[in-house]
Amino acid sequence: MYDPNNIFAKILRKELPATCVYEDDHVLAFKDIHPAAPIHVLVITKKAYSSFDDFSACANEQEIVLFWQGVYKTVQALRLSLQGYRLVTNIGTDGGQEVPHLHVHILAGKPLGTKVCV
Ligand code: AMP
Repeated sequence: MYDPNNIFAKILRKELPATCVYEDDHVLAFKDIHPAAPIHVLVITKKAYSSFDDFSACANEQEIVLFWQGVYKTVQALRLSLQGYRLVTNIGTDGGQEVPHLHVHILAGKPLGTKVCV
């Protein structure tokens, strides 16, 4: 079940502040409050999906395409393609997901090595 009181739902409703770096009709991208890299941005869906797993099971093809296009448009807005970046999405308890609203971490700004945890 989706919890409409999660932190990212509150950011979408403008009940909490965020430093936005990209927005369109389908996604909002903003700076992570505890950055794990020089550039650490979260891209969230504007729809009520609790995780990548929920989204993949329940979203239609158009929603899936529009979300991932939003991730890439955020990458373009941040001009990350040349130097590279990492995408991470944590799912559920073992995945270490803290906020139950679909989001992708974009990490960049330095060589990130081979360890894949955020
Ligand atoms: P996850 O473990 O994948 O659910 O990651 C949640 C992320 O949200 C963490 O990296 C937090 O630092 C970040 N976060 C939590 N609250 C906020 C907030 N109010 N604004 C920006 N980022 C946040």
